[in-house]
Amino acid sequence: MEPIITVNRLTKKYGDRIAVNDISFSLYPGQVLGLLGPNGAGKTTTMRMLMGLSQPSSGSITIFGHDIRTDAKLIHPRIGVVFERSNLLENLSAYQNLALFCRLYGTPLSEIQPLLERMDLWSRAQEPVKNFSKGMKQRLLISRALIHRPPLLFLDEPASGLDPISAKIIWDYLKEQAAHGTTIILTSHDMVEVDELCDMIGFINQGHLITFERTSVLKSQYGQGTIRITYQSEQGIAVENLEPTPENLQRIHSLYAEKRIINLRSMEASLAEIFQKLCES
Ligand code: ATP
Repeated sequence: MEPIITVNRLTKKYGDRIAVNDISFSLYPGQVLGLLGPNGAGKTTTMRMLMGLSQPSSGSITIFGHDIRTDAKLIHPRIGVVFERSNLLENLSAYQNLALFCRLYGTPLSEIQPLLERMDLWSRAQEPVKNFSKGMKQRLLISRALIHRPPLLFLDEPASGLDPISAKIIWDYLKEQAAHGTTIILTSHDMVEVDELCDMIGFINQGHLITFERTSVLKSQYGQGTIRITYQSEQGIAVENLEPTPENLQRIHSLYAEKRIINLRSMEASLAEIFQKLCES
């Protein structure tokens, strides 16, 4: 399978300051990458270069097999971007906002209704956007970025600060797009959001990509290596964290045989813990 995007030795300097330092990675169809890192780490600078909004000092970015420096015109119609918080046309309706983009991309207007229904906005489609809540505007921005079905989507904090219902609508829709092969790159400081959406984590610190790894691998790498069992004891339901020693494994086996195990899972690290540890390393 060909990568959707390949970043090779990407570097950005502002005078003497190196904002992004020698970053390389590739992403394949359907992968969702969360770019994480502390404030000022270089995430926005990296995203801006990937979207073609800022020129790298050195290194290359290849998207859909094209070099972004020479073939941006071939790349841009096939990407979706939700980066600016509110660049919707406030006096136009939700429908009109999407219709403008449909005309721009040659997308049939018939795509608008199912998308707005999916985002729970269809009943308000004819109202000016200035009447919309923050959550509704964000859902509309994401709809607009996806109306032309781009294979690559860039997002900045897709649902942070939104209520759980708006967040869930957005997360479910993005997960559905990824399952259909859309590659997504997002930045977020919300670890719940990252956990919900990202199967890959790129951790940037002081301009360096210090980790680029599957979320599941990171969680077990940074986990405690213990097993949490919930079981029926003489006194009622009990929970214990056990080291995986031969004695403990034998005990778990016996509890299983006695049908007393209610739940058993390995203790993975949370993304917040991983973030903390990566910042300290
Ligand atoms: P945050 O999480 O706070 O948004 P970030 O990881 O997105 O941070 P960047 O905005 O990419 O970080 O900034 C990386 C570094 O580059 C910072 O030291 C920042 O001050 C610097 N920087 C960014 N843009 C410019 C610019 N236009 N001119 C000079 N320095 C810049």
